[in-house]
Amino acid sequence: MTEPTFDTIFDDLIDANEELQGFLAILDALLPEASMLLVSEAGAVLEGARPLTLAPPVREKLVREARAADGFVAGKADNGARCHAVYLAKLSAVLIIACAAALEDDWEPGSAITSLLRNTLELAQYRQEREMLVADHEQSVRQINILQQQHGKLIEDNYRQYRLNQDREKEYARKLESEIAKQTAELREANARLEEISRLKSDFLANMSHELRTPMNAIIGFSELLSETPLAEEQLDYTRTIAQSATSLLTLINDILDLAKIEAGKLELERLPFDLAEVVGNVAAMFKIPAREKGVVVASRIDRRIPKRIMGDSNRLRQVLINLAGNAMKFTEQGGIDILVDYEREAAGQIVSRFSVRDSGIGIPADRVEAIFEKFTQADGSTTRKYGGTGLGLAICLQLVELMGGHLMVASEVGKGSTFSFVIPLEEAPAEIISIAEHKEAGREKIFSGGRILLVEDNAVNQRLAGILITREGYEVEVASDGAEALEHLRHQTFDLVLMDVQMPNMDGMEATRRIRKIEADPALRQGYVGLRNLQQPLVIVGLTAHARKEDETACYEAGMNGFLTKPIIKAKLVMILSEMMPPATCPENKDPA
Ligand code: ADP
Repeated sequence: MTEPTFDTIFDDLIDANEELQGFLAILDALLPEASMLLVSEAGAVLEGARPLTLAPPVREKLVREARAADGFVAGKADNGARCHAVYLAKLSAVLIIACAAALEDDWEPGSAITSLLRNTLELAQYRQEREMLVADHEQSVRQINILQQQHGKLIEDNYRQYRLNQDREKEYARKLESEIAKQTAELREANARLEEISRLKSDFLANMSHELRTPMNAIIGFSELLSETPLAEEQLDYTRTIAQSATSLLTLINDILDLAKIEAGKLELERLPFDLAEVVGNVAAMFKIPAREKGVVVASRIDRRIPKRIMGDSNRLRQVLINLAGNAMKFTEQGGIDILVDYEREAAGQIVSRFSVRDSGIGIPADRVEAIFEKFTQADGSTTRKYGGTGLGLAICLQLVELMGGHLMVASEVGKGSTFSFVIPLEEAPAEIISIAEHKEAGREKIFSGGRILLVEDNAVNQRLAGILITREGYEVEVASDGAEALEHLRHQTFDLVLMDVQMPNMDGMEATRRIRKIEADPALRQGYVGLRNLQQPLVIVGLTAHARKEDETACYEAGMNGFLTKPIIKAKLVMILSEMMPPATCPENKDPA
């Protein structure tokens, strides 16, 4: 049997020839004494072990007979020895065996030698099968090993890939993080820039508001004064027209400033107690006279279930109602205007209420309903000429109502009328809180006149106007053009109250107030100031500012002022604040007990 050269490679290839050789090798070992010859079915010699020579005709006959009989066939070798041919179906070959020691009759079928041979052949076959099974098994083991190796390699590959992916993911996450950090930094920077721009814008607006209101102050104030002088009918008419135009211009300025403030997120609503019926009643009352002139009826009604005193921003609520009622007035020629507050429901301890302003006016075309809430937009372009207005009112109302927690809506039919409404939660005011406004109300009867006032104001027109208004109310007035001059006046004269403009060149009102408070607090310094030396209580200082912002109000108080008045100075407001803030000693009856 030939040794396979590449055993590891060809081990798996057990072919018929190998099977045949294996069988012969086994048989060779089992029959050491025998000569053997393996012949194919066609009669060709396949393999010989220990030479057994047979003349081809003999061999062919033996093969033929053995195949036909499928068993043992006896014959003679060339040297005369007896031989036996066996057909091996499994190998498709005929085996011819000659045993030297065999007796003649032992070769008969069924004889001892035949049985021995037959058993030996079977044994050889079994052995070979076993070896083949073993080989199969080894092959399987080898294959399993290969598979295991491959499997291991796959696992390793997968693991490597997994690690690679993890590394890639980490790298990606790192990149992403740094990208996000970069973008966040950029956004922060952009945001800071925007905040700065917004701050500049709101400062600009504050300054503009000052610059705009100061001349308006003069126009309105002086036309008010002018109309009180003896005038011919025509002159009075012109004066009133000036005052009215200036007032509408001031309204427009206020509207623009309001909107800018809302858009900059700077508008904060107050939370103070107020009387709802009073606010609604006042708004209705405002329009009663012009309505009567047109033949339109104005009415107001509040559901009884709604609390009388409410916490909130009465000024802003009034502003919304005045705007809606003003529009209703403008666009209604007959019928009526109703201002209603209806109870909707109670939620979380608050009364959710519906405010409506209903009119029987011209109505709004359905396709314009959305547009009218936009800035500078009117239902019909031609209305500007006919009805006036700027298209800002509703845009402001919309935003104010939203700040109040509601949403402004309109239902309208052309030719029949419109109803503007919003639903907001109302919180009842606790009984013990009385607002400053209510204090003011209570103090109304305190109106009196008299006393010395130091007016600190840089603008000559405003000096004159405020001076005239103050003198007319029966007060004595001295004027200083800036903070430093005011301090100079206090060195030599006494005053009951200082009206201090906030924005002035040289020394502004804030600085002057801080200095006055410092002098008051130091007895040695105080000695040098006649106007501060003998006071029983700190000098009353009322700020005058065109800035109506909350932070300006706070700044005034922080500087040490006792109150403040926004410009333009309206006579009624001035009279009110002077009567409130003037120390009691100046009250005529206190001064002159007789
Ligand atoms: P303005 O009245 O100053 O023009 P508004 O924002 O208050 O600005 O109103 C915008 C437009 O909405 C008005 O010009 C008008 O066309 C329409 N409008 C508002 N209220 C009414 C109303 N009650 N009836 C009819 N049209 C109205």
